[in-house]
Amino acid sequence: MQISIWEKESFYAPKDVIIVGSGLVGLWSAYYLKKQNPRCSVAIVDRGVIPTGASTRNAGFACFGSVTELQEDFTKMGEDKTLELVSMRYQGLQRMRKILDEKLIDFELCGGYELIAADSDPGMEALEEQIATMNKKLKQAIKTSQTFKLSDKKISEFGFQHVAHLLENKLEGYLHSGKLCQALLQLVQSMGVIVFNGVEITHFEKIVDKMVLYTKQQLRFTASKILVCTNAFAKELLPALDIIPARGQVLVTSTIHGLKLNGTFHYDEGYYYFRNIGNRVLLGGARNKAFEEERTTEMNTTDTIQKELEHFLAHYILPGKEYAITDRWSGIMGMGSEKMPIMQEVSPQVYCAVRMSGMGVALAPVIGEKVAEMLKD
Ligand SMILES: Cc1cc2nc3c(=O)[nH]c(=O)nc-3n(C[C@H](O)[C@H](O)[C@H](O)COP(=O)(O)OP(=O)(O)OC[C@H]3O[C@@H](n4cnc5c(N)ncnc54)[C@H](O)[C@@H]3O)c2cc1C
Repeated sequence: MQISIWEKESFYAPKDVIIVGSGLVGLWSAYYLKKQNPRCSVAIVDRGVIPTGASTRNAGFACFGSVTELQEDFTKMGEDKTLELVSMRYQGLQRMRKILDEKLIDFELCGGYELIAADSDPGMEALEEQIATMNKKLKQAIKTSQTFKLSDKKISEFGFQHVAHLLENKLEGYLHSGKLCQALLQLVQSMGVIVFNGVEITHFEKIVDKMVLYTKQQLRFTASKILVCTNAFAKELLPALDIIPARGQVLVTSTIHGLKLNGTFHYDEGYYYFRNIGNRVLLGGARNKAFEEERTTEMNTTDTIQKELEHFLAHYILPGKEYAITDRWSGIMGMGSEKMPIMQEVSPQVYCAVRMSGMGVALAPVIGEKVAEMLKD
């Protein structure tokens, strides 16, 4: 099919920036590119009919790290990088709440909790010491002296079993992931960003001074700069990047009569996470039970993980309750040898903002702003 001159001079006209991927990072990047320079022409291309990576398939936690997860990060990444990451996540959440209408995205500052199981209880004294140390360290990053506190009274209130302690973080919230992406899409479109869905970029090359993007659908796009925001899938376009796909599986229960728990919940360095959606429970994770199997971009669910999640649900969260599992799905996270996102000019006129390491809801607003700044130069 030939292209009309009308199409060539409007939809397909060369853009200043073409973003590949309309997940949270692509959308926030588009927002900041337009905010910093309203005259910058920006298009986003996504192969999904809707964003089809992690952004619409996650758990909707507005969080920045639990105590055991951050302890592990301090050990593996060192103090400076961990605090930088926490600070970016925290700032990202503040910014998201300022820019978007909280009601539109079902955001609630519900509070977050970490479960310490009875069979891995380090004892009250050790735990209090860990909390005090963590609060002291985080003070630099989020300017609050008490991020975490013990909240053991809520264990019975929430109906948990086999749980020795609960650590509370009142700065955490939850939101509706689909509504967040929709709200952002509408916002960037209102700023003049063109969004193409159902178009897969296969490769690109420089022709004279422009970048030409080729697609599976035999269309071509032209731009001065390309920004790759395809996270877990980034190696398909940029094979040299340090990205490891990590599948996250989720299940959701039917409505549960008398459900008491409210908030976001973490367990085992963040490998397990659950929350309520009204009177239902969403539970995800357990990737650490089958690391190799979950190192994939296949978006299906498996018996190994789903059975483990069901066991966790019955054992710790909903003992004695009646419910059914109504929904199961998976999404793909972008991990790597470390947790810091990759934001860089990969080659002249080609940039990337990828590897959100499982916390892109919080990180994306700050990453979007930083990478938009980078593209200005
Ligand atoms: C199960 C699960 C639970 C999670 N829970 C949370 C949570 O509670 N809180 C939190 O902060 N984070 C959570 N995360 C992580 C978070 O969702 C991600 O960090 C974030 O969504 C990443 O956004 P992104 O824009 O970088 O990537 P994605 O959302 O993955 O977007 C990448 C986009 O690129 C498109 N694409 C890929 N290749 C091409 C191509 N060649 N051409 C065109 N388009 C292409 C895809 O279709 C996709 O839409 C979770 C992730 C999963 C999987």
